[in-house]
Amino acid sequence: MNDNNTTIARLKEEVHAMCLRKGWGVDGVQNPQHVAMAMTVEMSELLEHFQWLEPEDVRRLMDGGDPERCAMIAEEFADVMIYGLQLARSLGIDVTGQILRKIGIVDRRPPKPGVPKR
Ligand SMILES: [Mg+2]
Repeated sequence: MNDNNTTIARLKEEVHAMCLRKGWGVDGVQNPQHVAMAMTVEMSELLEHFQWLEPEDVRRLMDGGDPERCAMIAEEFADVMIYGLQLARSLGIDVTGQILRKIGIVDRRPPKPGVPKR
């Protein structure tokens, strides 16, 4: 399974199956308030891998020059996404629909003055 052959619906079910196996929540559904809070903790763990990096360190990451750090970032990214998928499943959020809707909103916003295009 990878991004090219897996649907978001399938990932939601994989995460739910893990929650059932682990005995988390009621019938594998955890309180979405708790899930949202846990998601921020995982986001902090992800950010920790970027703490105090210089721009050249980030460039090195992007160029594949620090695979160990990238692997740790990927693991924390997965933690964030797992909670995000749990949240989406428990609240009936259609991830694709909401992302496309939000892209439409962002596309209609005028560019902010002074924000660099990087
Ligand atoms: Mg973590």
